[in-house]
Amino acid sequence: MAKYIFVTGGVVSSLGKGIAAASIAKLLENKGLRVTMMKCDPYINVDPGTMNPFQHGEVYVTDDGAETDLDLGHYERFTNAKYGKENNITTGKIYYSVITKERRGDYLGKTVQIIPHITAEIKDSIKKVAYGRKIDVVIVEIGGTVGDIESLPFLEAIRQLKLELGCGYAINVHVTLVPFIKTAGEIKTKPTQHSVGTLREIGIMPDAILCRSEKPLNKEAKDKIALFCNVDKDAVISAVDVKSIYEVPLALRKEGLDKLIVKLLNLKCEDGDLTEWKEGVVDKIKYPKKEVTIAVVGKYIALQDAYKSIYEALTHGAITNDAKLIIKRVDSEDIEKHGAGKYLKNVKGVLVPGGFGTRGIEGKIKAVEFARLNGVPYFGICLGMQIAVIEFARNVCGRKKANSTEFDKNTKFPIISLLDEQKKVKAKGATMRLGAYACRLKKTTKAYSVYRKENISERHRHRYEFNNEYRKDFEANGMIFSGTHPKGNLVEIVEVKGHPWFVACQFHPEFQSKPDRAHPLFASFIEAALDK
Ligand code: GLN
Repeated sequence: MAKYIFVTGGVVSSLGKGIAAASIAKLLENKGLRVTMMKCDPYINVDPGTMNPFQHGEVYVTDDGAETDLDLGHYERFTNAKYGKENNITTGKIYYSVITKERRGDYLGKTVQIIPHITAEIKDSIKKVAYGRKIDVVIVEIGGTVGDIESLPFLEAIRQLKLELGCGYAINVHVTLVPFIKTAGEIKTKPTQHSVGTLREIGIMPDAILCRSEKPLNKEAKDKIALFCNVDKDAVISAVDVKSIYEVPLALRKEGLDKLIVKLLNLKCEDGDLTEWKEGVVDKIKYPKKEVTIAVVGKYIALQDAYKSIYEALTHGAITNDAKLIIKRVDSEDIEKHGAGKYLKNVKGVLVPGGFGTRGIEGKIKAVEFARLNGVPYFGICLGMQIAVIEFARNVCGRKKANSTEFDKNTKFPIISLLDEQKKVKAKGATMRLGAYACRLKKTTKAYSVYRKENISERHRHRYEFNNEYRKDFEANGMIFSGTHPKGNLVEIVEVKGHPWFVACQFHPEFQSKPDRAHPLFASFIEAALDK
């Protein structure tokens, strides 16, 4: 029977609960345990697919085509597991399912209520991720902060579940903030005390408290938290800010969190050894030999989380090349106003990530033109590929009015147009071409030399696609179509002949990159940038 770790958060949001949960998974997997993870999001959207990145950050896409919370990205990057639809639930998804059952008559005669019906649905979803699979530990992260109205049903569900599973089968790790007050010159434990107080009011006793802080907690602070929050002294873990998120598992192991969990859940496992992770990932980030500056040109650059997986995958590419990565975030609308040179002249590579809508498009096209003409390595992803072919159509094939029908419905040259399967789609939620699809690479291409195999599988999230009617014209002008999806011959990767490194793909390679196994396209892009 699987054992459960419920990760909750207190005091403030953005404490890195997802990273903490992923780090715990890493530590346990490293001990030979089979781990799976799940994120519970308290918002009413069924999934984050229709949310603006400014609201929610990146939408992470899984192999099975689920549009999920970006924490699932951390889960996949830190562990070997693959996640999918069932690993991310939201209030919306739970209610949707309960209301569908109610309409069907499943609860006939009953008043359907938050307790027990909504909580039962949450518990079932949580238990489902381990059903019929050999799983030792399920780590469940509850989104939001304890005390929020929205997350109450989830907390009530884990309270019930903890009780049902019994002692030794489920624990709660509560992540809190221990602020350092500069004027007093001390760290303060009171917010943690209050947060744990709120948790206890709901009926949950934390088994471990992970204290996020700028300064390490001394023994006195730990003892105080243990006393006031009713946990063992060794269950107060100091989680100090570290240079890289990939250092967190090392820091938590040093604090003994792994041993504590093994003891609390009575797990039978090896001790584990993180030397490879330390040397192959963390030390490479801390002690790089070179440096490389990459411009990411997008419209959500003000928000750290909007292109999370892109930034991480670039970091992985830099790790592979022993380089320090400097990301220059460029707002494409600034390029529209002041030209590309001002922002891109000193960078070694340009990446245009995915996106939707017209705003900032022309600035991205200028960025591509700058990279193409100046031999700057260019990496286009999804929208970044569509932009690259529009630029090529306009400036190389001489079709000045070329565009995507997403931005100009009546364009004379619809180089990018709606996928056939999308033409009848009306609803916005979960209706894009989503998830993993096969792609076959042509042997003589850069893409093939990077992947070193013919058949690849990559994740997608789009409605528009290269219009194959223009393929011959493009090929005659020096664009290489290096990879296609066998069905319908959909264009998946393009390259520009004669350019040092110009690769653009319709899929999202960033979702499959890991710190110790950089995605080949990211590793190769950074290598080319270093050569520039
Ligand atoms: N807006 C484009 C499309 O729907 C690109 C999507 C993306 O970049 N994820 O096809």
